[in-house]
Amino acid sequence: EGPVAYSPIIQEQTGTFRAGLDVPVTPPSDALLPDDYGLLYQNDIPGRDFDEKKIFQELKSLGLDKGAVSQVLREIVHHGDVVHWEDIAGLDAAKLALKETVVYPFLRPDLFNGLREPVQGILLFGPPGTGKTMLATAVATESRSTFFSISASTLMSKYLGDSEKLVRALFAVAKHFAPSIIFIDEIDSILAARGHGEHEATRRLKTEFLIQWSGLARAASGRTPLEADVKPVLVLAATNMPWAIDEAARRRFVRRQYIPLPDGEVRRIQLNNLLHQQKHSLSDEDFEELVRMTDSFSGSDITALAKDAAMGPLRAVGDKLLRMTVDEIRPIQLEDFKASIVKIRPSVSQEGLERYDEWAKKFGESG
Ligand code: ADP
Repeated sequence: EGPVAYSPIIQEQTGTFRAGLDVPVTPPSDALLPDDYGLLYQNDIPGRDFDEKKIFQELKSLGLDKGAVSQVLREIVHHGDVVHWEDIAGLDAAKLALKETVVYPFLRPDLFNGLREPVQGILLFGPPGTGKTMLATAVATESRSTFFSISASTLMSKYLGDSEKLVRALFAVAKHFAPSIIFIDEIDSILAARGHGEHEATRRLKTEFLIQWSGLARAASGRTPLEADVKPVLVLAATNMPWAIDEAARRRFVRRQYIPLPDGEVRRIQLNNLLHQQKHSLSDEDFEELVRMTDSFSGSDITALAKDAAMGPLRAVGDKLLRMTVDEIRPIQLEDFKASIVKIRPSVSQEGLERYDEWAKKFGESG
């Protein structure tokens, strides 16, 4: 049963993977347990299916560090989740902006040159858990790009010392597999304003990142309409602390998109999506109440709440659930949400929100 239920996902993932990388992926065998499968898919396939030697040979003239290239291929090329626009509740203005600035240009480069030339940097900013990573993943899926994803804090902690080499390799491999999207989460930690006592390695990492990024812009602006088939590479970055980014770096993000907390209508859509395939007894009025109860919740708070509430019917029966059929378990009801909301509270404070609104007014586009 188990593996069969997974196969449509595998198909889709395989499809995207191929589109980006043109590397054949063998779906895992039915013998694997779902958990093993998840791990295997995330960590093993690049190492197994990439011909690292060949890629390294092709990039040889660039003088890259071999270990760094291998790390990019194994750990930063991302082919986990496939996210489509409709999986993300709300954020219509952000979706539209990303379609116009990334997806259409990537799919139809012949229409997007000169004045319509694609940008090289987009910043998504807003409170944590509002869908920034989901949006980036959707952009990669919908634009059929190779998706490179790393958090800046990982870059700084896990690889510090080697992180310049890694950044160089990252941009080179991204160009090689273009069209590509380089998604950097928590970008504020590399692009922070210079502070006292800043680590030398951090400073060098920031410099290298800016050099590589400018390289993309130069390559793009020198492009004539005849060279429109040169495939694009875009830096898509996310931050919960946009004010920490220094001014010069901020200006390089031509587009800065505010990803706010969901309003009532968006919360209703998300709750509907989450409960859509669950056995529940919530009436329209109950949904209204849920929408009211979740005021100031982020998208990820809402997911956490719904997951906890979904446990309610099982908690109610305790050990007996081991002997019960699916039909004997009662539906999820409003009371389950009321019990869960005592534990699961909004993660963003009112003062925090005001700071985002202010920054958005000064430097961002909202929606
Ligand atoms: P961010 O990158 O802004 O911190 P994520 O995109 O990682 O947030 O979202 C974390 C989780 O919260 C998602 O995996 C999803 O379950 C839920 N989520 C957040 N925003 C939305 C949204 N707009 N629509 C649906 N789910 C959302």
